[in-house]
Formats: sequence, structure tokens, C-alpha cells
Amino acid sequence: MIPPSFEYHAPRSVAAAIGLLGSLGADAKLLAGGHSLLPMMKLRFAEPSHLIDLGKIPELSGIAQVGDEIRIGAMTTEHALLNSALLAEKVPLLVEGAGWISDPQVRYKGTIGGDIAHGDPGNDHPALMLALGASFVLSGPRGERVVAADGFFLGMYSTLLEADEILTQIRVPIPAPGSGWSYQKLKRKTGDFATAATAVMLQMKGGNVASVSIALTNVGATALKAQAAEASLIGKPLNDATASEAARLAMSICEPSADQRGDVAYKTAMCGEMTRRALLAAHSRAK
Ligand SMILES: Cc1cc2nc3c(=O)[nH]c(=O)nc-3n(C[C@H](O)[C@H](O)[C@H](O)COP(=O)(O)OP(=O)(O)OC[C@H]3O[C@@H](n4cnc5c(N)ncnc54)[C@H](O)[C@@H]3O)c2cc1C
Repeated sequence: MIPPSFEYHAPRSVAAAIGLLGSLGADAKLLAGGHSLLPMMKLRFAEPSHLIDLGKIPELSGIAQVGDEIRIGAMTTEHALLNSALLAEKVPLLVEGAGWISDPQVRYKGTIGGDIAHGDPGNDHPALMLALGASFVLSGPRGERVVAADGFFLGMYSTLLEADEILTQIRVPIPAPGSGWSYQKLKRKTGDFATAATAVMLQMKGGNVASVSIALTNVGATALKAQAAEASLIGKPLNDATASEAARLAMSICEPSADQRGDVAYKTAMCGEMTRRALLAAHSRAK
């Protein structure tokens, strides 16, 4: 299938991209890796007359430590996340999560910024960002603002990004040493989105849970933070019983849509199972 015709723009700076976005208005779309946008254009779900390619703006790519956080340019590819020694050491959850995204072809071009900005509840980065307590830098004609991942995802394909803004950077606080992590994802085959998936970050103290974040993929209109499940674990040991109770509480907030991956009951049950497994796996890694 061939997408409708469009005019191609390749700005060399964020300022130039913001200028183009402002002057071209609603007829323009930002192009990152194209692995969500181009399929939508081929299906005529999106018909922009102008594409503004962010791929020629060097400042939008890269991974660096600044103080106690990791800063990732929005155009950094999944492939780069997977191969980052810095991330493997400081934020291994992100490396594990990126490895679950589709296949090498998608990971070579797909970007972390595009994955987040798209607002697709089936994408993996939203839940990873919620579990990590990340924040996003949004740049537009009024300057920059930094917003928390928790609250950024408003609904299906809907985020806090204004039409004239660009997601330029992802900021991830470096987890405390000894934190456990896990991303457990059920998918039908390589290249598919999650039937259900759960991201967990965990800190233990004296044999009990000191802090935990649990975030769910593809069981609602957005990625979900399982707050009741988190609260149920604080101050308790992590074992089969407490993990199963947290999984039950995570299931209680699931509102998946039925589709070719399963009906509502199956997807909800799989979310519970992914949550249970992610908690136990994170516990086995926590020191
Ligand atoms: C076969 C297949 C399987 C897939 N499986 C998975 C999966 O399992 N898990 C998963 O997470 N993803 C999956 N994806 C999606 C993939 O990860 C996409 O790459 C990702 O959703 C979008 O990133 P992109 O860089 O390709 O963005 P694009 O497709 O270029 O853009 C997506 C949207 O975000 C906007 N946008 C892009 N960058 C920015 C920015 N910096 N600021 C503001 N807006 C921006 C664009 O205008 C567009 O509306 C899959 C895709 C395919 C084709």
C-alpha cells in the first residue's frame, strides 16, 4: 500500500523544526522512525500534507548521564537503547523493555520518542516510563516544559503534547543501587504487540518491600500505574502470596479491549500473570 503524497521537510535544528510545525499547522506531522506513522498513512488513518523529519537533528539523539539522571534524546533508536553500556549499568529495565519491542527491523528505525509521543497503549515505553518515574522535555514556541510520565498519557493516541510541541528528551532518574527490575511481556509471536505486559521497579529493605512501582501495558486506553497493587506490598516480604495479591489488585484496574489477541477475561488474567512474574523476577534481582 502506498501512502498519500506529502511534502518532505528535513530541518537541521529543533528551533527550525518548531518553526516549521508552527507555520505548516495542522497539515504537518513529525516523522521519527516512521514505524507507527507510515502504517497509519498507508491505511489513510493519517493524511498529512507535510512530513517534518526529525532524523537530521543531531541534538535529538544520544544517551548521557547528567547528575543522578539519564537523559535520552527523543530520536534515539530502540537499537541504540539495547546496545547502550550506560543503560545496561544504570537502567537495565529500559534495555530489557527495548528488547521486547517487535523485531530488529523495527528496532533499527523506531525511536523512544516516537514510541512515547504516539500514545499507543500497546507500545511498551509508556509503562516502562511510568515504572521508572521518568519525565519528558516538551519543546515548542513558548519554550521548554518538563512533565512527568505519570499524567502525560491522556487516552488512546492522546498525550499532553500540544500540536506545536516536540518531545525532545526523556529523563530517567537512576534507580538506587540494588534495585530489582523486570519487564514481563506476553506476545503471540515476534513482531507483535503485547497481549499484556508489566514493568516493575523494586527496592527491598530488611527483607521487606521498601518501594515498588508497577505499570501495565495494553490493558486500558493508556499504560496504567497499579497503585493499589503497589500499596499492598509496602512493608511486606515479596513471596508467592504477596505477589499473587498484588497481581489480583493489578487485574482489578484492567479494562482491555477484546481483539485478535484475546477477550477481556483472558487479557486481564494475563496481566495478572505478567505482574506476578515481574514482581518475583524483580525480587530475585534486588539486593
Ligand atoms: C510490525 C510492528 C510491530 C511493532 N511492535 C511494537 C511493540 O511490540 N512494542 C512497541 O512499543 N512498539 C511496537 N511497534 C511500534 C514501533 O515501536 C514504533 O517505532 C513506535 O511506536 C513509533 O516510533 P517511531 O520512531 O517509529 O515514530 P513515528 O512512527 O515516526 O511517529 C509516531 C507518532 O509520534 C509522533 N512523533 C514522533 N516523534 C515525535 C517527537 N519527538 N515529538 C512529538 N511527536 C513525535 C509522530 O508525528 C507520529 O504521530 C511496532 C511497529 C510495527 C510496524
